[in-house]
Amino acid sequence: MIRFLLVIAVALTVSCNSAQNATSKTKMTPVDYANTITAENLKTHLYTFAGDEMEGRGTGENGNNKAAEYLRNMYMDGGIAAPIEENNYYQNIPSEYFNDATKGKPSQNVVAFIKGSEKPEEIIVISAHYDHLGTRDGKIYNGADDDGSGTISILEVAKAFQKAANEGNGPKRSILILHVTGEELGLYGSKYYTENPLFPLRNTIVNLNVDMIGRIGSEKKGNDNYIYLIGSDKLSQGLHDLSENVNCLLYTSPSPRDS
Ligand SMILES: [Zn+2]
Repeated sequence: MIRFLLVIAVALTVSCNSAQNATSKTKMTPVDYANTITAENLKTHLYTFAGDEMEGRGTGENGNNKAAEYLRNMYMDGGIAAPIEENNYYQNIPSEYFNDATKGKPSQNVVAFIKGSEKPEEIIVISAHYDHLGTRDGKIYNGADDDGSGTISILEVAKAFQKAANEGNGPKRSILILHVTGEELGLYGSKYYTENPLFPLRNTIVNLNVDMIGRIGSEKKGNDNYIYLIGSDKLSQGLHDLSENVNCLLYTSPSPRDS
């Protein structure tokens, strides 16, 4: 849970620091918005999302479509917009794209959008894959951690950002929430998005992807106050530095280096 809060605190700090001059009706801080995300809510959604009813969310299967519908309904109910066309939360991917991996069935990425207040044309993508292994030999592979945990997390992150936006404290840049399909079969959903981006990739500032945050590594037993950031030291030092700074600012115990 703490790890998750750190993720959103980082993200909110990215956007809210630079939005300080924007119209602000309340004195809510990024941490206040992060705290609107509760363990109870995450658990409620995850238990449904990774429940047997979703049949393991195998790409193209009935359970995968049900999972997509679940996410779409959550965004509609939460008043979070679709990116391009009103109420169109799906980026449909034709069956042929999957090279027989789905036995001729199509699937879809699920997308939602929070428009930036100052630089709406610049996009921050927050993603997680919502597919899992499906049902094999009668056994449902529920995939609660991989990647139900990331999926539900970014859903709740979106709600927190939307609340901030509704109260005049929204992000400066636009946020695209991207639930990709077909990851387990070979990253099909993210590849499809990259080849068919809804917004120009040259305006896409960063993609933060969340996968498997529902467990504590054996080397971290007794301390769940940590997060792994992978890749931040490869393309840009900026994210790494930002995360270190936020760690120091918000989570100084036991020490920033351990967080
Ligand atoms: Zn995964």
